[in-house]
Amino acid sequence: MNLVVTGGRGFIGSHFVELVLQKGCKVVDIDKMTYASSNSLPFDSNPSYSLIKKDICDLEHIPPCDAIINFAAESHVDNSIAGPTTFFNSNTSGVFNLLELVRGKVYNKPLFFHISTDEVYGDIRGTDSVETDVLNPGNPYSASKAAAEMFVLSYSRTYELDFIMTRSSNNYGLRQYPEKLIPQIIYCLENNKKIPIHGDGSYIRDWVDVKENVKAIYHLLLHGEKNEIYNISSNNHLTNLEVVQQVCQWYNIDDYMQHVEFVPNRLGQDTRYSISSDKLKATGYKTQESTGLKRFK
Ligand code: NAD
Repeated sequence: MNLVVTGGRGFIGSHFVELVLQKGCKVVDIDKMTYASSNSLPFDSNPSYSLIKKDICDLEHIPPCDAIINFAAESHVDNSIAGPTTFFNSNTSGVFNLLELVRGKVYNKPLFFHISTDEVYGDIRGTDSVETDVLNPGNPYSASKAAAEMFVLSYSRTYELDFIMTRSSNNYGLRQYPEKLIPQIIYCLENNKKIPIHGDGSYIRDWVDVKENVKAIYHLLLHGEKNEIYNISSNNHLTNLEVVQQVCQWYNIDDYMQHVEFVPNRLGQDTRYSISSDKLKATGYKTQESTGLKRFK
């Protein structure tokens, strides 16, 4: 399969590229190379991989391919609160530009495989979110992702573009930029610094191993129904303090609270995310249910 991947130098995108190269795909990666991207990756010398260093907002042509998998985005909620404009540009206008380019293709329109997030559902106090729920984004990051979803849906209906969309829960694993919770905890422990935790640390996220997420994305690329949305999670709910506790256990630290420093809460903090992966399971995919975090190196 010939794939165009955007944001393939970022955290999740790089794991996806690694997987699909192993599966024999050819990949053209379009990445702006923001601060969150990796300059050096294990697949750099693979002849089936090539990189175009470009912003998806400025792209004028999509290389011929079977599918475009759009990971490119600004991804850190705190940054979106401090400066929302780049989030609107990359996460909404960038997707709009990609859709326009796909729409303009006279024939052989590629599948538009869009990577969204569980954060578009907003705060979940009741049952797990399912794909048909109304979106209720609570911060500029999730709003920019939800807005992009609306363009994908409307282009599919109006211009008959085929899409698949995923909304995964919080990913963890190798190569995540240290602004995110787990690499930040590791950085603080290894550098003898206090771990900053928002509010009282009780906020719940649903953690999925990045390798699980990209396996599910690849499965859906092959077997997903076109023009459908799929949640991806491991049913692995942890408070932020439990995440600290578990990462501390990797370092044989019991008194994890000694390492925590509570900091003012994030503006508009979502207290809980929780999604159902039943629709993904119905495609024949066996999700990896977890209770806790697996150590990665
Ligand atoms: P990341 O910040 O680690 O990587 C993003 C990559 O996209 C970087 O390589 C960056 O250079 C590139 N990029 C950013 N803006 C671009 C632009 N305008 N043009 C071209 N390239 C651009 O992000 P991530 O954590 O790997 O997230 C990837 C995708 O998954 C995002 O769409 C994000 O919304 C989504 N997502 C992430 C998580 C998570 O837990 N990290 C969870 C659910 C969904």
